[in-house]
Amino acid sequence: MKIAICPGSFDPITLGHVDIIERAADIFDQVIVLVMSNSAKEKSLFTVEERMALVEKCIHKPNVKIDTYNGLLVNYAKDSGAVAIVKGLRAVSDFDYEFQMALTNKSLYPDVETVFLSARAQNMFLSSSMVKEVCSHGGDIGSFVPTCIKQDIYNKMQRR
Ligand code: ADP
Repeated sequence: MKIAICPGSFDPITLGHVDIIERAADIFDQVIVLVMSNSAKEKSLFTVEERMALVEKCIHKPNVKIDTYNGLLVNYAKDSGAVAIVKGLRAVSDFDYEFQMALTNKSLYPDVETVFLSARAQNMFLSSSMVKEVCSHGGDIGSFVPTCIKQDIYNKMQRR
């Protein structure tokens, strides 16, 4: 069975993430959406548990499961028997960082491949940070996140 991991902070999950996860699920036998809790990014809006719950609400493919991890991604890949790490590539701005990560992971654990799927044109400039920015100013995030979690994001933003 070919297992792939889709890692990320998913703070919160966007339509860009959903697209990559669903496409990965069409290619691999099983996909693990791995909500990382040790991101070097700024403090997250949602807790890991909340981020996992939001992913769960948006993804309905039977061969996708959700997990969390706060260690080195390649160690999780080794333990889970994953053959691939699937990443979405947006504009060139993603490339340097993602290429560096892919080479590092390859040298740490040669048995895992990093597979890049290009973002769809409409998701090219979509990021979790952009969703938070728009939402914090009361803008409409309807074309950026699945409808089923839109209210959860507005509610969270209001309670801050
Ligand atoms: P972000 O970069 O938005 O903070 P994450 O760290 O959660 O999101 O990203 C997890 C993965 O999802 C990365 O591989 C990233 O490139 C990919 N990704 C994020 N947004 C998009 C998008 N709009 N389209 C395609 N892939 C995306």
